[in-house]
Amino acid sequence: MTNSLFSDASKRLEKALKYVSISDDASARLRYPKASLSVSIPVRMDNGSLRIFQGYRVRYDDTRGPGKGGVRYHPNVTLDEVQSLAFWMTFKCALLNLPFGGAKGGITVNPKELSKQELERLSRGYIDAIADFIGPNVDILAPDVYTNAMIMGWMMDQYGIICRQISPAVVTGKPLTMGGSQGRDSATGQGAFYVINNILPKFGHSPNNTTIAVQGFGNAGAIVAELLAKGGYKVVAVSDSLGGIYAEKGLDIPSIRQYKNEHRGIKGVYCQDTVCSIVEHKTITNEELLTLDVDVLIPAALENQITSKNADKIRAKYIFEVANGPITSEADQILENKGIYVFPDILVNAGGVTVSYFEWVQNRSGLYWTTQKVNETLKEKMVAETEETWAISQDLGVSMRTAAYIHGLNRLSEALDAKGTRNYYVNG
Ligand code: NAD
Repeated sequence: MTNSLFSDASKRLEKALKYVSISDDASARLRYPKASLSVSIPVRMDNGSLRIFQGYRVRYDDTRGPGKGGVRYHPNVTLDEVQSLAFWMTFKCALLNLPFGGAKGGITVNPKELSKQELERLSRGYIDAIADFIGPNVDILAPDVYTNAMIMGWMMDQYGIICRQISPAVVTGKPLTMGGSQGRDSATGQGAFYVINNILPKFGHSPNNTTIAVQGFGNAGAIVAELLAKGGYKVVAVSDSLGGIYAEKGLDIPSIRQYKNEHRGIKGVYCQDTVCSIVEHKTITNEELLTLDVDVLIPAALENQITSKNADKIRAKYIFEVANGPITSEADQILENKGIYVFPDILVNAGGVTVSYFEWVQNRSGLYWTTQKVNETLKEKMVAETEETWAISQDLGVSMRTAAYIHGLNRLSEALDAKGTRNYYVNG
């Protein structure tokens, strides 16, 4: 295997496989993505020129149900990254016991350079290119980095135009008026909050004696920061792509969110400003944020933020991965040796896909839930699977990451065997 994000991600699977009794057929199947699609998307720009963008959709595994996963717009999107994200989705959906497989999509683009109209043409063009590969019973899309409810609405509409029928269940994270779910916007942060609030008391931490730093102030990071601050935790640092801010006494997160929301550029799509413009705080770099002397560190931006280069400098006692893949496998080992507890992405950020599942259920039944019902059902699921993962980790003496993979693997291998592996027939 090459030294790619995917080969690094696969190391977590290999580690967990040692603890699971799984057929050779099933483990072989889980080492490879089921299908990968690479497309060129021609977009007419506002100045009349034509630009071709590169897009991807990967369905990693669909043994437990249709593929499920977000679509990322970022200049660094590659097939390797999309494949890794689809791999994580597979284990995340199994861990949360959702009737989905894992998938992911992305376009290599800096969306902040596009006008709103160009962004709409790109999003609709992406659906034109992948329409045969997706569907409410095949592979379901959702938001990820730099995509949002408005973009999901365009995608659902375009799919409906192509199929000549309204198909809200092909995309989750849509605007409420187009069949979106209450609570989907805040689901990733809300789910992470339930996990953190369930874990920290096990270590004797209560909100008022816990300091927290959050890297990334988008859909996932800003909401978890706000929920933690409201819950009495002291959020002392936050950051975005341009840098961060720090205040020893704790930050006023709602006012920072309001500031970011009021400074959205490109006609209401992306925030043009940064948290660093809020002058009354000390500014810090993203690297400084990661190495702050806090109790809890929450990476909530992109992958590969904590690597063998900086893992040794991390001073937090607990890391909750709200982003996907923020810690490399090498860094994992360094953190473990330092006695730092890591709570993995496939558990901590699973609130997003869990409420996406609720949205899909609502679209298919035509019956819509209240915010209270969404949040109560989400809490029940997040707490139950956190407890099961914790129990595996304690019983086997393994990290929470390995325990999470073991838990997901058990469900995946059962489903793979039931579909007909050699073991299933030989063992009757
Ligand atoms: P988003 O686009 O809403 O926000 C991304 C944030 O990260 C922005 O504040 C941006 O400024 C910041 N950022 C970008 N590069 C950075 C850098 N180098 N350093 C610090 N900050 C940086 O995206 P999101 O939906 O919040 O996703 C963030 C992470 O959470 C991703 O890893 C994503 O896969 C994961 N995630 C998101 C969801 C969801 O429902 N949105 C669900 C599960 C996992």
